[in-house]
Amino acid sequence: MILCECGEFIKKSTFKDYISTSQNPSTRTIGHEKCGLIFNFVDDNVSKKYSSRKRLKILAMKFAEKNDMERELIGKFLLEIDRLKSCGNMSDQKIILEAYRRVWIS
Ligand SMILES: [Zn+2]
Repeated sequence: MILCECGEFIKKSTFKDYISTSQNPSTRTIGHEKCGLIFNFVDDNVSKKYSSRKRLKILAMKFAEKNDMERELIGKFLLEIDRLKSCGNMSDQKIILEAYRRVWIS
């Protein structure tokens, strides 16, 4: 699964496209149908993205909105994001998934 910049996890709603990357001027890739973002898996490895704390929070907020999280949960969710970010080198995607899981289960 890929976490899109728009805050949604992409499963099936993708379109195929070709973009120019450092490897090939016509690299096959996918985009997110709903927001139109096209991924460059060659030059920026999407699943291994490590954003700054600020950027990560923006992404987390978008994610919370997309998932209709309640206000109370959003607070907890962002707290977990902060905690996970502090404790080491997890990728954005892992942090958001883990925080979501913790908030949801607790
Ligand atoms: Zn998207």
